[in-house]
Amino acid sequence: MSRKTRVLVVDDEKLSFRLLEQIFAKEDWESFWAATGSSGIEMAKLLEPDIILLDLVLPDKNGFEVCAALKENELTKDIPVIFVTSRNDREAIVKAFEEGAVDFVTKPFFLEEIWVRVKTQLKLKQYADELKEKNEQLSLLAEKLQILSLTDELMLIGNRRAFEMEIERVHNQAVRLHQPYCLLIADIDFFKKFNDYFGHQAGDRVLRTLGEIFKNSVRSYDFVARYGGEEIVVILPQTDCPDGMRIAQRIQEEIAKKNIVHPANPPHNRLTVSIGISCFQPDNPDFSYYEIIRKADQALYLAKNAGRNSIRV
Ligand code: C2E
Ligand code: C2E
Repeated sequence: MSRKTRVLVVDDEKLSFRLLEQIFAKEDWESFWAATGSSGIEMAKLLEPDIILLDLVLPDKNGFEVCAALKENELTKDIPVIFVTSRNDREAIVKAFEEGAVDFVTKPFFLEEIWVRVKTQLKLKQYADELKEKNEQLSLLAEKLQILSLTDELMLIGNRRAFEMEIERVHNQAVRLHQPYCLLIADIDFFKKFNDYFGHQAGDRVLRTLGEIFKNSVRSYDFVARYGGEEIVVILPQTDCPDGMRIAQRIQEEIAKKNIVHPANPPHNRLTVSIGISCFQPDNPDFSYYEIIRKADQALYLAKNAGRNSIRV
């Protein structure tokens, strides 16, 4: 159930509050009274009213100070503040708006005038809130779209576009920080035959499983993506060649543990991958990442020719 509209009146004269309370009561709104600036600020934080009517002359702080304090606090900064005061000089009016007030009413006031001004400000606040909410929804949607546009739907890992962005980033960082990195390109051995044998649905399930195995076999800051139909790439930042080799072996071992039958992949007769590795050495910074990709591709070709389930650098 939505709560009633809350109005906080900060005014040292109780009579002003009593007058205002009457008009809000007609609408079944709740009115609260604070007789000092400090209690006004505290009540605003606790009650989170929809609007605040603020006097300028108060016993402890002046209304400008109260308004400034409200605008500085995360809980109260968006609550509209209307000044209701006996001062009507230019300086006071300008300063009130400078401190963040949305309106300025001079005492003595007409109750009807206060009423329409308050309603107008509440309407504006409602529009602003709706706009803010829509903006937040749009930002979330944009974020989701961004993730989707960089994800392979089937394997639930990065797609080729994401890979191209990531390798450029890792490469530039490695050159700048004078660090090595490794690129692995893995290819599922005789995957076409697997699909022919078991059907495409089984093939898709295997791809999904492999996506999980690759992701879980390396560190969260390593990057895994689908490079092509049955090719998966792994970027290993700050990793040299011997470690890259060990990680490739680990991935092959994790796949072997799953023991996925593949009768068309002799002599293993279970699903295997061949892996090509290339390593960026910081002593050779002239190497571009295109070159690193090309070398990993060549290494993969050698691994394939070495009888599948192999790793080559
Ligand atoms: P290790 O498994 O022989 O790995 C040796 C080194 O290879 C690691 O040294 C690290 O520099 C690199 N490395 C290994 N796996 C990965 C990987 O998945 N991604 C990346 N980017 N680099 C990798 P480090 O960090 O000094 O670790 C030394 C040893 O500590 C490792 O030898 C392993 O025995 C153990 N270890 C470290 N982290 C983990 C972990 O998350 N899980 C397990 N099971 N062991 C870990
Ligand atoms: P993580 O760093 O994201 O690593 C994810 C998984 O990649 C690890 O799961 C492990 O299967 C593999 N892995 C990563 N680095 C290595 C490594 O150097 N050697 C080997 N053999 N495998 C590696 P795991 O082992 O279940 O670890 C889960 C998480 O626990 C790791 O996530 C990491 O955050 C933490 N962790 C485990 N062991 C170590 C360690 O020795 N040192 C540090 N710093 N963190 C560790």
